[in-house]
Amino acid sequence: MARRFTLMYIPDSGKRTRRYLVTHRLIISALAVASVCVLVLGYICVDYYRLQLDQQQFTRLLIENSEQRQQLSHLTRSFGELQRDVVVMAGAEARVRESLGPDASVPKAVPVGIGGALETSATDMTALQKQINDLRLAIDLRRESQEEVRDLLNDKHSLASATPEGWPTKGWLTSYFGMRESPYSGEPKMHEGLDIGANIGTSVTATADGVVVKATTEPGFGKVVMIDHGYGYRTIFGHNSKLMVTPGMRVKRGDKISEVGNTGRSTGPHLHYEVRLNGVPIDPRKFL
Ligand SMILES: [Zn+2]
Repeated sequence: MARRFTLMYIPDSGKRTRRYLVTHRLIISALAVASVCVLVLGYICVDYYRLQLDQQQFTRLLIENSEQRQQLSHLTRSFGELQRDVVVMAGAEARVRESLGPDASVPKAVPVGIGGALETSATDMTALQKQINDLRLAIDLRRESQEEVRDLLNDKHSLASATPEGWPTKGWLTSYFGMRESPYSGEPKMHEGLDIGANIGTSVTATADGVVVKATTEPGFGKVVMIDHGYGYRTIFGHNSKLMVTPGMRVKRGDKISEVGNTGRSTGPHLHYEVRLNGVPIDPRKFL
């Protein structure tokens, strides 16, 4: 049997009292409808809230996207400048190589064609990344190439400092390189150096960087200095009055090594100056 309630409405101004019959089923139905309404309302609220969040996120992403585009454009510009720097470096290096001579004009490390104008129009990160990788490779190769140029320059510099240059003393030429009559026997004899007349005590200087290999007194050359310069070059300074160096000493071009004298087989104060290349005397006048 269904339970039922009676709801009474009693107004206070003498009007008719009203009565409402309420069944248990009606209450259940009303509660069910109310629950459904609450659920639907809750769903709508949650959905609306989520929509708001999505909207905010979308706006944020739009801003981020625009910022990233600007950053990409900025990066692409910076990247383009780097590429131009590499091209300028390649140009400068090519000029140094040209000045080093034909052997040095083609870099061993860099394949022909790399180091020219590169692409500078990246429109997305993948393209930019690829161009960055290419540039990194180009820079690595450029570095190897520059190390090669540095070695070439070092070699050239060492050879230049090892090659005799200039007069070893202030004086005048009294005898040349070549066949001449021996001042002692009158017989034709090879003169393997230059004789430079000068007053006793005049400074004699090294004509290239090197190491003193001989500083001694000999019957022929008297007080003599021999310097080894590397690259096959040796210089000999004979008939000195005084020696300032000892064997094993390192000397630089222009360092004082001795003073002009008249020691050994000599007919007057002078310096006998000899240049040998791989043990063979050559005309020192080429190096004055
Ligand atoms: Zn001589």
